[in-house]
Amino acid sequence: MIPLTGLITDLRTRNAKRVAVQLPEGLKRGTAMLAKALRDEGFDVTICGDACWGACDLALDALADADVLVHIGHTPVTPEENVIYIPFRQDINPDILASALPALAPYSRIGIVTTIQHAHQTEDMRRWLAEHGITAVIGKGSSRTPQPGQILGCTYAAAKSADADAYLFVGTGVFHAIGVSLATGKPTFALDPYGDGGVQEVSADRLLRKRFVQIEKAKTAETFGILLSGKSGQCRKELARRLAALTDKASIILIREVSEMQLRNLGFDAYVNTACPRLALDDQSRFPMPVLSPAEFEIVLGLRSWDDYAIDEIA
Ligand code: SAH
Ligand code: SF4
Repeated sequence: MIPLTGLITDLRTRNAKRVAVQLPEGLKRGTAMLAKALRDEGFDVTICGDACWGACDLALDALADADVLVHIGHTPVTPEENVIYIPFRQDINPDILASALPALAPYSRIGIVTTIQHAHQTEDMRRWLAEHGITAVIGKGSSRTPQPGQILGCTYAAAKSADADAYLFVGTGVFHAIGVSLATGKPTFALDPYGDGGVQEVSADRLLRKRFVQIEKAKTAETFGILLSGKSGQCRKELARRLAALTDKASIILIREVSEMQLRNLGFDAYVNTACPRLALDDQSRFPMPVLSPAEFEIVLGLRSWDDYAIDEIA
């Protein structure tokens, strides 16, 4: 799973002795095996045990006692020294695209988008679709999404930069595909390489209806907590300050892990999320009070119209 030989060479080239390792939640079960493999090669290993949701969430504090942080699973989202990134890649068979052909046929240019697991295969997918009569294009990434066609739940640059009239998202779940649809306004299809449901066209309508309810609820709030993340690639100080200056009902809250318990304990009527954009959209059902995106907060304050609804992205 993890290309250990390359990692060990890299660590030795850097003359690293003390190594901190960090795996995201989905891969955490591999931690013991990786730590043992590195110990066997003579390294002194510390495991970073806190929750980790992406390369936006680096355990930089571990570098106080380690020469290098090895971050597994993702490509970089912020420039950092002394961090080695080992992206997690999973090969898929391009033949799975066959089920998407009828849905894609009516469009002239399909933008292929995917997550880091499959981003190394976007060109294979484009070629396979071309061989089957579909013109596909791959948008270029951004500093947070360095691979062509790669997207994150907070960055859709690779979709927006593709000159496409519809999109095919290849990956697990529908959240990223709904994000593409909101960010581009174009028809978007999702194909889960491991699911048996085939391709499905996603719609943001249900999500938007739920957001409308939270926006209405937040209009009666007397106190707003502006969540400012302490995580390396989620910290948007200027945005938090700008939002806090919009009303005297708002206070900035520095927080790393946003949990239902902390939001309840802090006791604000509503929160405005400048941390991981997915928290307001994907995780609202965990929170008993509205957790708004920046644009939704502006709608609550009457500074933006519902017609100008925009998905929150970290540039
Ligand atoms: N990085 C991946 C997605 C990871 S899952 C991608 O962009 O494709 C995203 C989830 O991580 C969020 O829905 C939320 O449940 C969790 N998360 C991210 N940042 C968080 C934070 N600061 N506090 C609590 N949960 C967080
Ligand atoms: Fe991090 Fe959230 Fe962006 Fe994923 S969507 S990279 S967890 S900020």
